[in-house]
Amino acid sequence: MKKILFATLFAAALASQPQLRAAGPIQVMLLDGESGGPYHAWQLTTPVLKKELEETGLFHVDVATAPPRGGDFSAFHPDFAKYQVIVMNYDAPDDRWSDDLKTAFAAYIRGGGGLVTVHAADNAFAEWPEFNEMIGIGGWRGRTEKAGPLWFYLDGKLAQDDKAGRAGNHGNRLPFAITVQDANHPITKGLPHVWMHQGDELYNSLRGPGKNMTVLATAYSDPANKGTGHDEPMLMTLSFGKGRVFHTTLGHDVNALSCVGFIVTFQRGTEWAATGKVTQKIPAVFPTATIVAYRNDIAEMDPNYKYGLNALSNPPGAGRGGR
Ligand code: ZN
Repeated sequence: MKKILFATLFAAALASQPQLRAAGPIQVMLLDGESGGPYHAWQLTTPVLKKELEETGLFHVDVATAPPRGGDFSAFHPDFAKYQVIVMNYDAPDDRWSDDLKTAFAAYIRGGGGLVTVHAADNAFAEWPEFNEMIGIGGWRGRTEKAGPLWFYLDGKLAQDDKAGRAGNHGNRLPFAITVQDANHPITKGLPHVWMHQGDELYNSLRGPGKNMTVLATAYSDPANKGTGHDEPMLMTLSFGKGRVFHTTLGHDVNALSCVGFIVTFQRGTEWAATGKVTQKIPAVFPTATIVAYRNDIAEMDPNYKYGLNALSNPPGAGRGGR
């Protein structure tokens, strides 16, 4: 009798952990929708993110698109529990989601679900404390010192500054160097210590609780390009209850997503968030400390792509207004 009870409890415990539930490919929900105008065109970036995951053979990706601003959210109830990881290519203000939906999402992550936030997903839900705890730091949408201190790297260590002010800024979309700060994490293990990222927004002045947060990689935010002079967090891992979170600030547009460094850290980060492990090898072609490496087959998925121009920068409208 005792044995049977134990077996039942054990089975129930397994069933409550999303990452152990599915056999075969890792089930991914790619959550997108609500753009903020001309920037963050999820209609263009979602097919890229889906391709980058599925080409590894490790993932099966379903896309869930949230209703637009002013849309009807009454029928929007994504079944989070069917998935091992939610990849969030979604930025929306606090009032879009009902309390019930927010509760279901937080319970899913707390119970062991994975979360990957890409670029402006860390702009979302500025007033939702649990979401800010999941992502550690965020910017824009009215965040100020009330959201938490500024977090950055100083003298090789994570530092914070609770001075007053807004959260979130970036300069023009130029290539910049990423420095790995934690080379022992499964996501970063084996990457070059420094590698050049494709032209992208280098987020700075992000604020938040910064709880249970490990900064895997940073980038120097150059005052010559509206930067802070700090090494800003670029790739982070966090825990929220039993859930694992991978937060990448990279990936403003298709051009940025075509960087081999983005692709590899995104693929590995998503596997890690889903399973706690990384089984993927680093490809032979990878950016070096001085040379970007990007994939034309990805860059060309942007209908505005101009061969050769995107490699260095993406000047139209860069920097001002968008996030
Ligand atoms: Zn952006």
